[in-house]
Amino acid sequence: MSTWRKMRVTVRTLQGFMKCPSRTSCTHGRRGWDRSFTTGPVVHNRFFKDLEKQFSAARDKLVDALPGGQWTPIEINPDLPPERADIVIIGGGVVGWSIAYWLKKKERVRDGVKVIVLEKDPTYSQASTVLSAGGIRQQFSLRENIQLSLDSADFMKNINEHLGVWNEDPVDIQSVGAKVSLLSPTQLKEKFPWVNAEDVALASYGLENEGWFDPWTLMNAFRRKAISMGVIQSFGEVTGFNCSINRVDTVDGETVDIKRIKHVNVRMANSLEYQPVECAIVVNAAGAFSAKLVDMMGIGTGPKDTLSGLSLPVEPRKRFIYVFHCPDGPGLDCPFLVDYSGIYFRREGLGGNYITGTSPEEDEEPDISNLEVDHDFFTEKMWPSLAHRVPAFEKLKVTSAWAGYYDYNTFDQNAILGIHPLAQNMYFATGFSGHGLQHSPAIGRALAELILDGGYQTLDLTALGFERIMSNEPMRERNIV
Ligand SMILES: Cc1cc2nc3c(=O)[nH]c(=O)nc-3n(C[C@H](O)[C@H](O)[C@H](O)COP(=O)(O)OP(=O)(O)OC[C@H]3O[C@@H](n4cnc5c(N)ncnc54)[C@H](O)[C@@H]3O)c2cc1C
Repeated sequence: MSTWRKMRVTVRTLQGFMKCPSRTSCTHGRRGWDRSFTTGPVVHNRFFKDLEKQFSAARDKLVDALPGGQWTPIEINPDLPPERADIVIIGGGVVGWSIAYWLKKKERVRDGVKVIVLEKDPTYSQASTVLSAGGIRQQFSLRENIQLSLDSADFMKNINEHLGVWNEDPVDIQSVGAKVSLLSPTQLKEKFPWVNAEDVALASYGLENEGWFDPWTLMNAFRRKAISMGVIQSFGEVTGFNCSINRVDTVDGETVDIKRIKHVNVRMANSLEYQPVECAIVVNAAGAFSAKLVDMMGIGTGPKDTLSGLSLPVEPRKRFIYVFHCPDGPGLDCPFLVDYSGIYFRREGLGGNYITGTSPEEDEEPDISNLEVDHDFFTEKMWPSLAHRVPAFEKLKVTSAWAGYYDYNTFDQNAILGIHPLAQNMYFATGFSGHGLQHSPAIGRALAELILDGGYQTLDLTALGFERIMSNEPMRERNIV
């Protein structure tokens, strides 16, 4: 009974508190409530004016103390990376997470290798992985690229055996399976009546291991699995390195500095906090911005055609993807089609929507300072070719578009894997120039083999190393889109 009374009193007090404004004239609340909470209008105003003044002074002080004019509040990031790790992977895109997964998969003792993945942007707003078209094909000209595609396709067909996590939903990569057959123009027209085959000499049609999948799902599946295996994820930007330096003379008589990274300096996301991470090995999987890390090490600054002038030939190149609607288009029957003009398109969902993209001419490369879309590029450079190949596309309507960066290898548009001769413990996995997503499963395994076994075990990718750049022997891939 007494408990019941107490409860009723509490309820009344609460009701009073909620109903009564802080005015002295209130007659509903208890007297004590009035006495302790009312300050009266004059005192009340002065108090808040004072408080405002103090806030404004404190804010001005902070602005003065900070470099640059734009003041943003300092946030403390709770996820500082550990002070030490065996392997630090810089870049939490699909390539970084694939490498992390394979390192854990290959470790001989449980928790034998401590791996951290560092990602500067928790929103992945500029990561190539999430902005890509999700295409996979085996139709390349180089043996290495074909093998990377075949192995990766095999991985994706059995993705739940690799990346399934106990008690979690299975990975649904939604890949479209499609062996290659060559079609004459007549055969092409019979198979795809919506295609204009007039100027086509031969078409190559992938029956297997080609199509597309959801890039975000693949990246997340790698990430989820790697974390479940003990990989540490940390959000922060690598802004520098502490290195030991070994000065040596080369057989050519050049004096060079060979560097070994001791600490990776990480600035935490949205914060002024720094954390140096001591490590044995660093993996550069920073995609379009991987060359920045090489600059930070002071590598490649020497004269051209010398070892000290050997930089990483990777730069961001902006590529657009346009989404369009065309109810009379090819429909369900539409494969991932790459025209010989370089334009590609594929179906997007089931509602008459498609996505398309192409690479511009070398002298028409768009400005890379932002990810704005150039709509004239579609209208002037792409639409006429699209409508030529598929007449129904004459009546398409662009509904949206986005842009992303290729991690473009200016030397030969192929991956650069392994170690730079002047950076002893930094392994590279970059320069994919538009085909890194589909190759990521096999690339991850290759890098893990290189790091943990000291050499490739499954696919020999030696040809994709720095040596070709040093000896100026590009590996030309004819089928870059
Ligand atoms: C429009 C477009 C279409 C594409 N279509 C296809 C396709 O159909 N098929 C295909 O296979 N490939 C395609 N690609 C290419 C593919 O997306 C990339 O090759 C692949 O995603 C590269 O993955 P990544 O992990 O190396 O790079 P990213 O996904 O870019 O990841 C690198 C990460 O590193 C982080 N990072 C960079 N610097 C630092 C730093 N200092 N500190 C911490 N983190 C850092 C970045 O924030 C980023 O998240 C396309 C790309 C684009 C732009």
